[in-house]
Amino acid sequence: MKFFKVTSLENTIEIVKDNLNNKIISSCIVPLRDSLGCMLSEDILSPEVSPLYNRSTVDGYAVRVQDVGASTQSIPSFLKVVGNVKMGEKPDFTLKSGEAAYVATGAMIPEGASGVVMVEHIDVLKDSIAVYTPIGNNENIILKGEEIQVGQVVAKKGDIIDTIKISILAGLGIANVPIYNKIRIAIISTGDELVDPSEKAENGKIRDINTDMLISFAKTYGFDIAYNTRIKDNLETLKQEIEKAVDIADVILLSGGSSIGVRDFTNEALETLGEILLHGVAIKPGKPTCLAKVKGKLVYGLPGNPFAALLVFKELCCDVIYNMRGYTLKPKTYAFVKTNFHSTPGRTTLQPVSIKVEDNKIYAEPLFLKSSHLATMLKADGYIKINANSEGVYSDTLLPVYDFYPGR
Ligand code: AMP
Ligand code: MG
Repeated sequence: MKFFKVTSLENTIEIVKDNLNNKIISSCIVPLRDSLGCMLSEDILSPEVSPLYNRSTVDGYAVRVQDVGASTQSIPSFLKVVGNVKMGEKPDFTLKSGEAAYVATGAMIPEGASGVVMVEHIDVLKDSIAVYTPIGNNENIILKGEEIQVGQVVAKKGDIIDTIKISILAGLGIANVPIYNKIRIAIISTGDELVDPSEKAENGKIRDINTDMLISFAKTYGFDIAYNTRIKDNLETLKQEIEKAVDIADVILLSGGSSIGVRDFTNEALETLGEILLHGVAIKPGKPTCLAKVKGKLVYGLPGNPFAALLVFKELCCDVIYNMRGYTLKPKTYAFVKTNFHSTPGRTTLQPVSIKVEDNKIYAEPLFLKSSHLATMLKADGYIKINANSEGVYSDTLLPVYDFYPGR
């Protein structure tokens, strides 16, 4: 009889880090417009201040604030209108005492002006305006450099580029950005019982979930799919497919067959083609995980159970790569555990939970759903991690809840 010699989650992560090839941290420059969802490989420092000029935040009249200091509803101040600052143009005059100039929202403030009175607080007369309210110094003006300084970090290495970041970078004139290269993933699903999702599953057959699941999950993390296939439990075919995959992908995922049953060929195939780094990880779910290096590429033998395969892929591949690239994994939320429950001592338990809000308090309710992975996936909002040296968790303990997907 064979047994697993399990490696702790922490040690497994170190082994993964040591064996991922340098491609993981290689980078390139792409146009900002094509960078959505990519990960920045360097901090981005602002090359200029923002805003570049003193600008109006309202539609109104630029004035010298001392000229309107005594304005009231019954005794307005009268100012001569000497100009109209056009959008995108620099005013070619300096405002003197007793003068005002029209400025639209975003227009440049003329020299000499120290505030803007909103159009709502004035009456327009022939060549002048009546101002009915005093204003403070720099009121309704955003000053040059008020938002962003030169050299300020506006986006960090490891940040995923989203719409907000694209907007900020576009505004600062950063039209090209350094990003990490895409990682190419190959997926080989194995199992005599598997049929395509488009086929009928009869007589003991089941539909292949993992191929589509792993493809979509890898894409969510910004990885490219270099290759995917589904094969029967056959040692020779498996070996051929692994050899093909290591030539075209950076990371290879084998789904199913990683355990120690008679139809589990992952370990044997990897042993013949390369070097087994470990077989058996002290996590639940995901114990029958195998890691190997073949032709310089890291190969994951993932468990066949879809939920286990997903969590192992996330924890031991996606998150490790993100971490190596400087991404800070943040929990989705913190929540109070709803009920006492036991974990498995000696193994880090990844416990799926559903999140509920009751009496203004966020709760994480553990989902105990046999091996029914579909039901778990339907209901889980995330998962909590219970340390290998703990025996369980008491209700009302506040714990981080991790999302299945990377956050911002
Ligand atoms: P294995 O790791 O090959 O022993 O498979 C463990 C369990 O996961 C078995 O019940 C398999 O039928 C199931 N399984 C394996 N591969 C897949 C797959 N691609 N899609 C859905 N279920 C799978
Ligand atoms: Mg199998």
